[in-house]
Amino acid sequence: MEKKIIILTAPSGAGKTTIVRKLLASMPVLSFSVSAATRAPREGEVDGKDYYFLTADDFHHKIEIHAFAEYEMVYAGKYYGTLKSELERIWHDGQIPMVDIDVKGALAIKEKYHDNALTVFIEPPSLDALRVRLSERGTETKDSLEERLAKARYELSFSHEFDKIVINDDLERAYEEVKRLIQDFLNIK
Ligand code: 5GP
Repeated sequence: MEKKIIILTAPSGAGKTTIVRKLLASMPVLSFSVSAATRAPREGEVDGKDYYFLTADDFHHKIEIHAFAEYEMVYAGKYYGTLKSELERIWHDGQIPMVDIDVKGALAIKEKYHDNALTVFIEPPSLDALRVRLSERGTETKDSLEERLAKARYELSFSHEFDKIVINDDLERAYEEVKRLIQDFLNIK
């Protein structure tokens, strides 16, 4: 099988995690690409499953040895990156990596893998809807909520650079649409 990649990007709180979970459950060919990150684990997050939680030193060492397909400082002082070894592991298992990363990372991967990468932007119906969802999730402080909303506003300005845009007005509908896009891209039904 060709070394294809699916990249899903959305502002934090746009419903992307739920869509990713449903896709992984219904499409066995997809395998979640676990990113490396230097932020602290949230309640319930597991090292090696949600992220490879690294110290800043370890992360910088991996930058030096060119271990990343892409990496970014996504939030002030917090680094996130896609490990080449993670993509290779998934391809080696005969699966397709599902990469859940921010706008810059998505566009960097697209530039590197061209037609072998499908980039999908999940758009929230509005910024107000996003504020409500983030508040209800209860994982943010007032400052980090504002930081995430500012980032969302910025990220939305790049949505047209993605191969496909899917508006998450209804979770089930958005999921079905993304699934169809992936099936078309991979030539599977
Ligand atoms: P969170 O801290 O909420 O888990 O993730 C914050 C942001 O980092 C999200 O927008 C997520 O898509 C992005 N992110 C997660 N992993 C990666 C990665 O490997 N590379 C890049 N560039 N962004 C990532």
